[in-house]
Amino acid sequence: MEVIERAATLREAADAARGRGETVGFVATMGDLHDGHASLIHRARADTGFIVVSIFVNPLQFDSVKDLHEYPRAPDHDRATAERLGVDVVFAPEQAELYPNGPPEITVDPGPLGARLEGASRPGHFAGVLTVVAKLFHVVGLSRTYFGEKDAQQLTLVRRMVRQLDFAIDVVGCPTVRDRDGLALSSRNARLTPEERAAAPILFEALSDAAVLLRQGERDANVLKAHMAKLIGAEPLAKLDHVAVVDDETWEEPQRLGPGRPARALVAARFGQTRLIDNLLLPTMQN
Ligand code: AMP
Repeated sequence: MEVIERAATLREAADAARGRGETVGFVATMGDLHDGHASLIHRARADTGFIVVSIFVNPLQFDSVKDLHEYPRAPDHDRATAERLGVDVVFAPEQAELYPNGPPEITVDPGPLGARLEGASRPGHFAGVLTVVAKLFHVVGLSRTYFGEKDAQQLTLVRRMVRQLDFAIDVVGCPTVRDRDGLALSSRNARLTPEERAAAPILFEALSDAAVLLRQGERDANVLKAHMAKLIGAEPLAKLDHVAVVDDETWEEPQRLGPGRPARALVAARFGQTRLIDNLLLPTMQN
């Protein structure tokens, strides 16, 4: 496995792989690799011949300097994990490699969806995400890329950027990997106190309850949202940020869930200093 810090070197390595007839698989991460990241890498390995994993804590997507500084970093663990998972190249640039003149003046505008839900709670977040992802896509070049459904709004915005701005990239969404108690794996989970960790599965419980209510015939999105908010609100260690039910394609928020239209429930809440998000694709009802 090669660890590359320079964008030009990565471009050469990816070009060389394509020259050998290999498909390039790309997984963008902020490091502190866990089994959620590993699932993306496994999927990439099953589909493609040359696997690039980027590890870069992107300052543009943090709205708080404190959050950026406190974001977990584990370079040795990450390199060992990537090697064990059969990654060909880890791209681990310094900030100055990607942003030599500081934050770029030209950025990607995520459009209206970028200002809603997670984007409303974290202003500028999705512009920061799409800007770094666009840069990484340009460096890696023609490839298939793997993003987690855990960050469903991010996945949708990446897909829209690729489609609307004609990137030569194939985007593959991968299912959320969870701990045994349902908590979605996240680098942020390590920051939870034992009590907060014990409380955090309430997010997945709320989402699962929404799915149960839908299966039982409840079609009113407000009822599903109110139920999720009530459940999370009843957990003393959780501070609800938002709940939503969106159409999985348009991301509009319907009042009633129509037949045959896939919908997704989304939640975000704080546990002490740590903000967690989760979501679940709801069962599609035929009537
Ligand atoms: P991050 O390092 O948190 O920016 O995540 C890098 C990629 O891993 C993103 O595409 C995430 O959606 C994905 N990811 C993070 N956690 C999980 C998880 N629990 N299951 C599946 N994918 C995940």
